[in-house]
Amino acid sequence: MPGISFGREMGGDAKRFASRVDDALLGQDVYGPVGLFEASAAEQGPRGCGSVECTGGWTRPWRSKKRPIFEGHWGCSGRCVLAMVRAAMRRETGDRRAVTETAGSHRHRVPLGLVMLAQGWITHPQLKAALQAQRQSGSGRIGDWLVSECGLEAEQVTRGLSVQWSCPVLSTEGFSAQAMALVMPQRFVQEFGMVPLRVAGGRLLYLGCDDRLNASVAYAVEQMTGLKVESGLVDGVQLTAAKANLLNADAVQTNLEAVADEDSLAARMTAILEHRQPLAARLVRLHQYYWLRLWLESGTRGLAGSLPRSTEDMQDCLFTVGSAA
Ligand SMILES: [Zn+2]
Repeated sequence: MPGISFGREMGGDAKRFASRVDDALLGQDVYGPVGLFEASAAEQGPRGCGSVECTGGWTRPWRSKKRPIFEGHWGCSGRCVLAMVRAAMRRETGDRRAVTETAGSHRHRVPLGLVMLAQGWITHPQLKAALQAQRQSGSGRIGDWLVSECGLEAEQVTRGLSVQWSCPVLSTEGFSAQAMALVMPQRFVQEFGMVPLRVAGGRLLYLGCDDRLNASVAYAVEQMTGLKVESGLVDGVQLTAAKANLLNADAVQTNLEAVADEDSLAARMTAILEHRQPLAARLVRLHQYYWLRLWLESGTRGLAGSLPRSTEDMQDCLFTVGSAA
């Protein structure tokens, strides 16, 4: 982690402070899978606690020195775990996150019909016919109407969408439902329409959708897995089949809870960390959800990034705050 190189010359408190300042400056970037899993007491204060607010007080003699680990740091007490959780929540609700979400969801896009027209893939009369059909029915996507009313191939519409979103067209070749079901909670796949497709070269994860990219999902998955995420458009039929298989596969056990406010959320997550004593844990926010993932034992980490090896000894906790559900 950043801060280690110059941290060696510093005293414990200064070292710990430097490391936390780096964390604050760099946000999520410091939390690769290495930082997530290999908490080293040498990186932190003399007692190894990861909380900046740690008063270095008395730790109960029976408390494990190896667990719980939250985002690469051990907490010496429930109080210190709570402080670490609160810091992570601040990061996840920070400006940086807001900027990412805005950039992802509100960027101006040229309508698909105009994109296809500009590419010369449809004619004016075709677009007019599709728009009219859409208006009359009062529903349906323009791409679907172009297929049903104008005889376009679905593949052409997918290509049009990829131009609209400036992203590649992906296929479901090499898709393993069982492996991909471990990437994120099924609820996200159902709700946001982004389907994990495959890992390439052990570092790159492909996410596919058939309609609109969700940059926030890609960002959240990137933070949670430590993998670089590339999103693209997938033909609707292929994607629907992949999604159905994924939703049928075994997923990491997921609990969904609604909490009243941010204070209750911090307390609840701390209680879970204290109770389950994970060897690694990470918090990521995605739209209305806080997603806390726990790696409960060693050997839970798979071959790529921090992706789980299987569902065993893994736990996902999803939270909504207030009436956000
Ligand atoms: Zn502490």
